[in-house]
Amino acid sequence: EKFVEVKNLRKVYDNGHEAIKNVSFSVKRGDLVCLLGPSGCGKTTILNMLAGLLSPTSGDILFDGKSVVNIAPKDRQIGYVFQNYALYPHMTVLQNVMFPLTVGQHKKSKDEAEKIARKYMELTQITELADQKPGQLSGGQQQRVSIARALVQQPKILLMDEPLSNLDARLRLRIREEIRSLVKKVGITTLFVTHDQEEALSIGDKIILFHQGVIQQDDLGQNFYLNP
Ligand code: ADP
Ligand code: ADP
Repeated sequence: EKFVEVKNLRKVYDNGHEAIKNVSFSVKRGDLVCLLGPSGCGKTTILNMLAGLLSPTSGDILFDGKSVVNIAPKDRQIGYVFQNYALYPHMTVLQNVMFPLTVGQHKKSKDEAEKIARKYMELTQITELADQKPGQLSGGQQQRVSIARALVQQPKILLMDEPLSNLDARLRLRIREEIRSLVKKVGITTLFVTHDQEEALSIGDKIILFHQGVIQQDDLGQNFYLNP
């Protein structure tokens, strides 16, 4: 069953650069799919189109069988975790995680928002950091906060753009295991962007390999060998 479907997607930037050339793929509900490829091959461009932050030049994007290209980002039920965490520096950890629940049409009461936020802070093991500001935290801790903030609205799809690249090697291994077990526990369909083959192999249910705006191989599976 195709939960996320990308059909003949193409993106030409305003400067004429064709970053995505006729890309089609699909993602099953609950799968953790890695988009793998070197820097500049178009991975972020695809995530931004899925999130609604960029509009495709042509092609279609379907969630659960429905086209979303004309649906605003806030109505797409997407959680987005960025490489640089993108936390609000003046807010505490708790306030950061609560924030999505305190704005917009469906905002919760302060008590309810805090209760939900604390549940996800427990899942991401940041409960003790509730009153700290992002500037006081390590990279791994900040990444956990940004993951909790992405999950708090119970999105249908989680997008992660190189979420481990600002962490040191040892922490990278640990956090990637944590991310995999967390998304499996929550059961959320996840697209995980990385340029690291080993990382993709260790975390992905399926790996889609990109090269210069096209899919080089869909579902690498056992036919995939690591480059030395
Ligand atoms: P990746 O995430 O795989 O590193 P990106 O999606 O960020 O790749 O970029 C794909 C290509 O599109 C790159 O060549 C990049 O320089 C180019 N690009 C990205 N954003 C823009 C933009 N706003 N305008 C023009 N070109 C862009
Ligand atoms: P990433 O690390 O995900 O590959 P980049 O560092 O390439 O991202 O790009 C950072 C930002 O700059 C993105 O918002 C991207 O859209 C924009 N960008 C990248 N390349 C270009 C470009 N050639 N022209 C204009 N904007 C670009």
